[in-house]
Amino acid sequence: MTYQRIAIKVGSNVLTRDDGTLDITRMSALVDQLALLRRAGLQVILISSGAVASGRSEMHLPQSETRRMDSVEQRQLFSAVGQAKLMGRYVEFFRDHGIHVGQVLTTKENFSTPRQNENQRQCMQAMLDHDVLPIVNENDTVCITELMFTDNDELSGLIARLMGCQALVILSNVDGLYDGTPSSPEARLIREVRAGQDIAQYISQEHSSAGRGGMESKCHIALAAAQAGIHVYIANGKREHVLTDLLLSPTPSLPFTHFLP
Ligand code: GLU
Repeated sequence: MTYQRIAIKVGSNVLTRDDGTLDITRMSALVDQLALLRRAGLQVILISSGAVASGRSEMHLPQSETRRMDSVEQRQLFSAVGQAKLMGRYVEFFRDHGIHVGQVLTTKENFSTPRQNENQRQCMQAMLDHDVLPIVNENDTVCITELMFTDNDELSGLIARLMGCQALVILSNVDGLYDGTPSSPEARLIREVRAGQDIAQYISQEHSSAGRGGMESKCHIALAAAQAGIHVYIANGKREHVLTDLLLSPTPSLPFTHFLP
């Protein structure tokens, strides 16, 4: 499959270690792969989570302090600190490949009118026209809970559509969608899902530890994007060379679930 423009979403669980700190080894390896995709002629838009998790670990506030704060206050504070840290790392890693990156922080409101949609599209189009790689995240610092995206999976689906991407890759810490509980030995990975297919029976309600999304939300977004003509892949961002295997190899060897339009 050859694509011209792709959106890649990386979840907090891929970017952080068990103790919540940013896994810079993994970030650097992902950036190396993104640079290879660009060299192969693909336009790439990155949707990156990890701000809240990284801010939390950066500040390591004592429990007595976090207990005094409500969840909105915590998210706002940690994302403000963590987003700066996250982007700092991306800037450094991409600079090694001679790639400029641009930060796009957005909110649900920015998708609410055709005019706002067009503003956002133009800003990212201008970046792509100038070979700048957009790195998108929700602006958690100024968001209140009722007006937020469900998670960055939802945001990545909207960005992929807005920007006319032919493919969206959602990287998390599982290999894809299974026909049973992923940890059970009988469970088999589902390689292909067609737009409109009923997969409700396969979807576990479990949520990941670091991010907000779960498999239910990923599949929901993937089906909707596939209906809109976009190829969606759910794959494991913790596997080495996952992006280059999936997008550059004629015969990918790593596991993933492909949602076909
Ligand atoms: N925007 C959040 C962050 O950067 C992640 C939301 C999600 O987990 O999907 O930490």
